Amino acid sequence: MAKATDTSTVTTAKAATKRTRTAAETEKIRVALTERRDELQAEYEQSLTDITELQRDRLADSAGDDQADAGTKTFEREQEITLANNLLERITQVERAIERLGQGNYGWCERCGNAIPVERLAAFPSATLCVTCKQLEERR
Ligand SMILES: [Zn+2]
Repeated sequence: MAKATDTSTVTTAKAATKRTRTAAETEKIRVALTERRDELQAEYEQSLTDITELQRDRLADSAGDDQADAGTKTFEREQEITLANNLLERITQVERAIERLGQGNYGWCERCGNAIPVERLAAFPSATLCVTCKQLEERR
């Protein structure tokens, strides 16, 4: 009943310097990133629909609008466009991340070279530092 598996974690120190991840881990990151991209894509499409509707509303009842109403609608539409642009930028970021992942140079801390946890990458696809290094950076 010896627990031989407990010693297997020792090898990870060496693996970190060699910058290797298991295929399963890479796959997990890929899935997380792909899901994130799909979510953002859906939000982006919703946003485009909203913009079209706001535009249509504006054209449809602008005749009866006073200046203030027209101003509010223009403002809303501009807000929506800003949101859409932000989403598009984030989609591009995630897509670049997926690309880099395929090349094997994504998800490593720029400072210490350790692997950035999958959960962190899923939440922040543009993360280039591990949590520890990020905190050190912020403290300076
Ligand atoms: Zn680090």
